[in-house]
Amino acid sequence: MEKNTQEATPPTTTAGKIIRCKAAICRNPGEALVVEEIEVEPPKAWEVRLKILCTSLCHSDVTFWKMKPGAVSAFPRILGHEAVGVVESVGEKVEGWREGERALPVFAPDCEDCRDCRSAKSNMCASFGRRGMVGFGMLRDGTSRFRDGSTGEVLHHFLGVSSFSEYTVVDVVNLVKIGVDIPVDKACLLSCGVSTGVGAAWKAAEVEEGSTVAIFGLGAVGLAVAEGARMRGASKIIGVDLNADKFELGKQFGLTDFINPTTIGDKRVSEVIKEMTDGGADYCFECIGLASLMAEAFSSSREGWGKTVIVGIEMHGSPLVVSPYEIIRGRSICGTYFGGLKPKTHISLLAKKYLDKELNLDPFITHEVGLKDINRAFELLAEGQSLRCLIWMDGCK
Ligand code: NAD
Ligand code: ZN
Repeated sequence: MEKNTQEATPPTTTAGKIIRCKAAICRNPGEALVVEEIEVEPPKAWEVRLKILCTSLCHSDVTFWKMKPGAVSAFPRILGHEAVGVVESVGEKVEGWREGERALPVFAPDCEDCRDCRSAKSNMCASFGRRGMVGFGMLRDGTSRFRDGSTGEVLHHFLGVSSFSEYTVVDVVNLVKIGVDIPVDKACLLSCGVSTGVGAAWKAAEVEEGSTVAIFGLGAVGLAVAEGARMRGASKIIGVDLNADKFELGKQFGLTDFINPTTIGDKRVSEVIKEMTDGGADYCFECIGLASLMAEAFSSSREGWGKTVIVGIEMHGSPLVVSPYEIIRGRSICGTYFGGLKPKTHISLLAKKYLDKELNLDPFITHEVGLKDINRAFELLAEGQSLRCLIWMDGCK
């Protein structure tokens, strides 16, 4: 039976026309976003225009918000890549989507056709996978559908999603169907952070029952790794974070132990983890985005078979330095993009696990604001108070 993804919304009268709506624009790196009116063009071929219902702030938005203009950073820009929307209209050549359907935009493309998308070994779409970064996250033809509402200036897309806007235009390869049986706010979490973390434990590491796990960084992504490891039956799940409040939060996701690096004296975190795990954790994850901690996570892994998975996006562009002598002793290190999940196949499985009460999503949502207060979401994340702050569009809650 086809999954019900239909919203109770009437057909739109806006199809084919420019839509004027509100969006949070980032004009310069690190500057507060400004909520202003923009114009959103109709979708071109292979594109879908979405009405965003809600979006949330992931640390990757913060990393790109702060990043000086360069190879992957451009301003003015509409950030945001974790969201849920409803299809407003579809462009030419779009098959299998119709107005009123609920959709998750996902930064990781899934064309279902290239060598990688057809292989079970990869989720790095060979046809569209590099576009999101190299092309500043613009659309398939390299252009933007966004204009400043007063000056007409072109606004850049972000990671092919740009969800800090009441309307956005997304390529069909970045769009996933999601049923209306899962509440909008929980579905939003599956668009990036929680799927990435759960996928990192499930697909990238393939954590086994009874294994030991160490997670550096207990934001939504790190705690989703804990949740994934808990679901896979890990016996010890150690969290490392400077913010001790994350331990209490983390217990809900299976965290069994906690290390605050500032309270262990002269010891290195890796030494403490080795003591706690009789020689090193089976699986280590870096979910912060600092090369020095990626190396520390690697040092915390067990000789012989320890595996370290890099999930964090290095925030300063620093290289990762690890000793070849340590690698030769049987440890391995790999990275993961969207947790190794294929969006069009695996997101619906996670939604089902939530509905079957196997996947714990509710405690990830710690705060909610309206679009006009989006800068508060940035403050809450920076202050370490929030896991995910949902940003609701007017009238959509
Ligand atoms: P977050 O800001 O919510 O969490 C980061 C956590 O790290 C916080 O709890 C913070 O207290 C902790 N931390 C910061 N510096 C630390 C330090 N020096 N030592 C110990 N703990 C420290 O971030 P998030 O939204 O959970 O994202 C985590 C990372 O995952 C980011 O780098 C983000 O860009 C990345 N990410 C990657 C993918 C992917 O596909 N690989 C997808 C989503 C997010
Ligand atoms: Zn993200």
